[in-house]
Amino acid sequence: MILEIRDLSVSFDGFKAVDNLNLSVGQRELRVVIGPNGAGKTTLLDMICGKTRPTSGQILFDGEEMTRLSEDRIVKAGIGRKFQTPSVYEDLTVAENLEISLPQGQGVLGSLCFRRDARAREAIEAAAREVFLLDALAHKAGQLSHGQKQWLEIGMLLTQEPRLLLLDEPVAGMSPREREQTAELLSRISAGKSVIVIEHDMDFVKRIAHKVTVLHQGRLLSEGSVEQVQSDPRVIDVYLGH
Ligand code: ADP
Repeated sequence: MILEIRDLSVSFDGFKAVDNLNLSVGQRELRVVIGPNGAGKTTLLDMICGKTRPTSGQILFDGEEMTRLSEDRIVKAGIGRKFQTPSVYEDLTVAENLEISLPQGQGVLGSLCFRRDARAREAIEAAAREVFLLDALAHKAGQLSHGQKQWLEIGMLLTQEPRLLLLDEPVAGMSPREREQTAELLSRISAGKSVIVIEHDMDFVKRIAHKVTVLHQGRLLSEGSVEQVQSDPRVIDVYLGH
């Protein structure tokens, strides 16, 4: 297991947003987390990446306790997080966005003397190719479509070579063709890394998920294959009962 979450809880002013959650994600597993609005999905990812401090419980990454480390240390340990809205530098080119996200030391010198070091350039091109932006390296990020910005942000995460990627609704605002490409991209990424994706669109979930975790009111409601959770009466009740 690359990630083990034990009895994890967080309360905001007495309200339990995540309640005694246990979850394990394997190496090269693509896990999708679903659940109605307010189920605690984003809060869960916030705790894994160190943005929100749990009230109690443990998060182990590759067997190491990560629970109260800073966001910086968690990124360095190999966990990359993408938020729901793309946050790219609109005035910089695709190449520059990728360059500044390179691990410290790889990109900085190159950008100062306008002669990018070959390794940095290779890393930038490899990331751009991976996220379908090789032809857009010189384009300003602000000119990209919403979907392309989502890809660029995934590319920026990939340059940091994380072993676990956390993606919050990566296909939000994408065209059907972009969604299809993103499904391919995620399958490729999960051949070498573990990925946790929050997603609402069940057609997309079916396409990408190795396993699905269903949250409801901060608790684990169901877990298993897409077919298993879709036929689970507790899941049907929650989705149809609201
Ligand atoms: P989801 O991502 O499944 O829609 P969230 O994790 O965003 O759900 O939210 C779970 C619950 O926790 C919601 O009721 C939300 O209002 C609450 N919540 C999340 N973050 C905070 C916060 N920082 N302060 C207070 N309440 C919060």
